[in-house]
Amino acid sequence: MQALALTTLFALSVVVSLLVKFWLATRQMRHVAAHRDKVPEAFSGSITLAAHRKAADYTLEKSRFGLLSTAFGAALLLGWTLLGGLDSLNAAVRDAVLPRWGSMAYQLALLAAFGVVSGGLDLPFDLYATFRIEQRFGFNRMTWKLYAADMFKGILVGVLVGLPVAALMLWIMGSAGPLWWLWAWGAWIAFNVALLVLYPTVIAPLFNKFVPLADESLKARVQALMARCGFAAKGLFVMDGSKRSAHANAYFTGLGAAKRVVFFDTLLNKLSPGEVEAVLAHELGHFKRRHVAQRIGAMFAASLAGFALLGWLSGQPWFYTALGVQPSLSAVNDALALLLFVLVVPVFAFFLSPAFALLSRRHEFEADAYACEQADGRELAAALLKLHEDNAATLTPDPLYARFYYSHPPASERLAALPRPNAVTP
Ligand SMILES: [Zn+2]
Repeated sequence: MQALALTTLFALSVVVSLLVKFWLATRQMRHVAAHRDKVPEAFSGSITLAAHRKAADYTLEKSRFGLLSTAFGAALLLGWTLLGGLDSLNAAVRDAVLPRWGSMAYQLALLAAFGVVSGGLDLPFDLYATFRIEQRFGFNRMTWKLYAADMFKGILVGVLVGLPVAALMLWIMGSAGPLWWLWAWGAWIAFNVALLVLYPTVIAPLFNKFVPLADESLKARVQALMARCGFAAKGLFVMDGSKRSAHANAYFTGLGAAKRVVFFDTLLNKLSPGEVEAVLAHELGHFKRRHVAQRIGAMFAASLAGFALLGWLSGQPWFYTALGVQPSLSAVNDALALLLFVLVVPVFAFFLSPAFALLSRRHEFEADAYACEQADGRELAAALLKLHEDNAATLTPDPLYARFYYSHPPASERLAALPRPNAVTP
């Protein structure tokens, strides 16, 4: 009974979310195409028609490809679950590994096999996005050699970091009793905190070079801004983002006073020092307005709910059978439960995405307002425009599509919300 209900709910959610995604994507494509040949009034002085058309074409190309990968993703999900893909993989790995190596080896092998198969199936999509779409619009800087090296390092990190963490989780699931999910959650939180320290110092340097910011005047400017905002950071670094992509970015990483600021070299090449300062002030706004703390708190709460749900579901036989998998009576099913859970949860979480997008857009407005208090609002406006143009982001998204997905407000709304010192009457 429960099995039938879950099967129905799951299948229905897959179909409905697919329909919603397609409907929104076609709306977006129609809207962008219809506005392709005219720069919106508010931007006519700052964006050329050629740049506007490029942004439209880039958006259309990505959306078209998005339709294909969305359809493939839904088919693959049904293939893994209701059509028995995961069940077959599980049976094969179990028969090969369990008798000889025991249950931990079997479960780790199942996770690894799943990772290899799904990674292999995703590969053509990633290759097409990088070497066709990004290439065609002049964003890709990646060579085949670098792509292969990245993949190799990614697998290495996955094996060295992912496998031990998976082993720890499986061990807790198998031996911590009925409240294992609480212990597993604690371990998960500890791992995420450790990652905040390990990522900037050990993992990120495997993929990119980080050098201390050498531009003394920019450094003084940024340090003055951080002092003004009461923000402690251990260093300012420049990352060779141009190695892979022309897209520009800046971010904070690390924990507590060991936080560091990382600028992509592409950002420093495109923006003036005043604009860089304004962009950084916006990022500081996310800390000062407690967005970062809220996000971390929400992540903790959501993962606790997730582990509690998994703790309950993994003990229900119908959870497996409803999703196309036969749990084995002779072996532990923890890795199987974990995989099913990770596969199925995003289908339901999709329906929450407009709420998260709304919250995120609110945070962006608040961070912009903070940036205007601490730095020059005109510099922020100029920087936003440049970044929009350089990333070929469309200025004319479909309003409904933007409401549903956009984590950042559309440029027109964002710029309109900035205080305009010029417009103030004496
Ligand atoms: Zn932001």
